Amino acid sequence: MHIQIIIEKCTGCSLCIKACPFDAIRMMDKLESSGLASSSQSHKKAVIDLNKCNLCGACVPACKLKAILIEKPKAKGEKPELKEYKGVWVFIEQKKGKIQSVSYELLGKASELARKLDTYVGAVLLGNNMGEQSDELFWYGADTAYVIEAPELANFQDEPYTNVLVKLIQKYKPEIFLCGATSIGRSLISRVAVRINTGLTADCTGLDIDSDKKILLQTRPAFGGNIMATIITPNHRPQMATVRHKVMQIIGPDKRRKGKIIRENFDGSLLSSRTKLLDIIEEVESLVNLAEADIIVSGGRGMGGPENFKLLEELAHVLGAAVGASRAAVDSGWMPYSHQVGQTGRTVSPKIYIACGISGQIQHLVGMQSSKIIVAINKDPDAPIFKVATYGIVADLFQIIPALTKKFKAALKR
Ligand code: FAD
Repeated sequence: MHIQIIIEKCTGCSLCIKACPFDAIRMMDKLESSGLASSSQSHKKAVIDLNKCNLCGACVPACKLKAILIEKPKAKGEKPELKEYKGVWVFIEQKKGKIQSVSYELLGKASELARKLDTYVGAVLLGNNMGEQSDELFWYGADTAYVIEAPELANFQDEPYTNVLVKLIQKYKPEIFLCGATSIGRSLISRVAVRINTGLTADCTGLDIDSDKKILLQTRPAFGGNIMATIITPNHRPQMATVRHKVMQIIGPDKRRKGKIIRENFDGSLLSSRTKLLDIIEEVESLVNLAEADIIVSGGRGMGGPENFKLLEELAHVLGAAVGASRAAVDSGWMPYSHQVGQTGRTVSPKIYIACGISGQIQHLVGMQSSKIIVAINKDPDAPIFKVATYGIVADLFQIIPALTKKFKAALKR
């Protein structure tokens, strides 16, 4: 794409400057900008700093004189091609040969999207000696499994995984491609999107289909979580999105479901990698087990200090729960970052989430609001956390938490 100011039309009114969100336009004397004008003609003209401009187009409608022109690449051949893309694909993440549950969650969502588009669900599994696991993909919603097995694909490596996915997408042309927003997914899918020149929306919390245009609506928090933005990819395919673990619900398993397996082989150069995998060391963070926990007891600034998290640990111990924290508690150094729940921490979706002394700012809520039951303990009756809470306790947590621990201890005989 290319942007230009038509100097003859520009009157230097400055409206484009106000419209530009990237501070990429300024006014210069005509003399300075073109080097042609005589001092008698000298007046202001808009000049675009191409290093700052990202071609968003906000300045075009702002210019009443139609003096700004963005030349888009010719649509020729683009639109008809979009129709060739069919199917909702999910990248199936495996670690040490075991399919990760985020993939099953995405298959459930993919089935819903595929129904609305009247198309099929494809699951792409890369690995080695994956055995019968591809059958399980059908149980959770896949209609077709693309299975590529090779020793080089046993463990995730950026280059061979990217190469294989790019080839598959070019050959089979899926219209939507979903991937877990995991460390593997984030690294992989951004490379794929760049290679096939399409858009990618990271960390979606909602996915749907525009029933008129039949395109993917990709919703995610934006501007620090203050708004929910719905993003579309109208001109490129596939429409790609990542979704964090536990944001979508698993559907199934329906063990009677069967599907078609397509196996592809790729040659050596495609599978080669400039990096060498030496060892896989389990994340220390996984010990916290927040993502898998059925119950999470979480503390915020209202806990008052690191020593008081002991109260939460006692309650968590009785309930068999994991301990979470708000960013305020983490930033204060009361809990390690691996416990943080929220936009810049973990996304969790346990059966029960007990928020203690957490106000419920949007950045915290996006990380836990899909929990099935939310219990909030806060002494402020107007705290926003109560808007999402299933049960709210307006009280001092220092009285309530020990009382709950005592009651559960007796009831659960622990
Ligand atoms: P506060 O907002 O200070 O709330 C403390 C609450 O405790 C109050 O409601 C108070 O009434 C209550 N309280 C105090 N004493 C007691 C008591 N004795 N008994 C009962 N209740 C009591 N935050 C996150 O949590 N996770 C994130 O991932 C995250 N990411 C962010 C990303 C960005 C880009 C930005 C800008 C912010 C992010 N935040 C995140 C910060 C977020 O905006 C809030 O500042 C934070 O969640 C507040 O934490 P809190 O609820 O513990 O503290």
